[in-house]
Amino acid sequence: MSALLDARNLGRTYRMRQGLFGRVLDIHAVDGVDLSVAPGETLGFVGESGSGKSTTGRMVLGLEPLDAGEVRFEGEPLPPTGSPAWRRQRTRMQMIFQDPLAALDRRLTIGVQVREPLDIHDIGAREERDERALSLLSLVGLSPVHAARYPHELSGGQRQRAVIARALATEPRLLVCDEPVSALDVSIQAQVVTLLQKLQDNLGIGMLFISHDLRVVRQISHRIAVIYLGRIVEEGTAEDLFQAPLHPYTQALVAASPEPGRGKIRRQPLQGDPPNPADRPSGCAFHPRCPVAEARCRDSLPSLTPVDGTRRVACHLVSRQ
Ligand code: SF4
Repeated sequence: MSALLDARNLGRTYRMRQGLFGRVLDIHAVDGVDLSVAPGETLGFVGESGSGKSTTGRMVLGLEPLDAGEVRFEGEPLPPTGSPAWRRQRTRMQMIFQDPLAALDRRLTIGVQVREPLDIHDIGAREERDERALSLLSLVGLSPVHAARYPHELSGGQRQRAVIARALATEPRLLVCDEPVSALDVSIQAQVVTLLQKLQDNLGIGMLFISHDLRVVRQISHRIAVIYLGRIVEEGTAEDLFQAPLHPYTQALVAASPEPGRGKIRRQPLQGDPPNPADRPSGCAFHPRCPVAEARCRDSLPSLTPVDGTRRVACHLVSRQ
């Protein structure tokens, strides 16, 4: 299937000065990342806090500059950010953020906010937009009563449903969901994830689903990419990654994630904290935390290499497995 989203060799570097007169450091927040999402597919994008996953999500939408690489959407390069062509493109690529309360305007009713994208982009006849807003609310499991309410009058789950309804107003082909359920109670998380799955099945939307929570990613993803300190270390089908993770970092993440009906699997859980991105370890950046690191891991950066038809892994030891 041809890619809806195709991002190649993405790079983003921030400059930071150490102290007032200290030296300037380059922090490679995203380094050589390739991603693709097909129509109707969910790519889970997993990593710890500070791994570069949210920055990557913003880059593919043009909300964060690219220092390297290229983003193609439906086969075309992403237009320059802020241009009329980019604004048109953005109606086809929407983002859902972690905190629905921050994403909504507290002064406007839910109905007005769901209708807003239709007004901004002049979509449909004016007199039909209220009706369209109500049908979007119904699509996400809210009722017409919620249209007249303000964000603070809704529960967290209802607010996130309203945010999803607003994102769907322009009939996007791609949703970038950045930790969309992290701020919700566990019971509500499952409902929102099920809603996203249902919408995807019905509307054929592609999704880039960013999360630190492997349990949630497993529930919704067809494929998963695991990122560590700005680089993808393993990518494959959700089933392969959970049944037989190859990279020691993925193995540790899976070990820390409960398996339905099987408890935790017997692998060594992740040790220590992620290193400071401003002081990236040499060679394989995971080597200070890796239980099977060898001497060469400190000097030599492993490249992301195809292991079989569907999986790529960046680890010196994987070819031996
Ligand atoms: Fe561990 Fe070495 Fe593989 Fe990195 S390359 S994950 S340090 S074994």
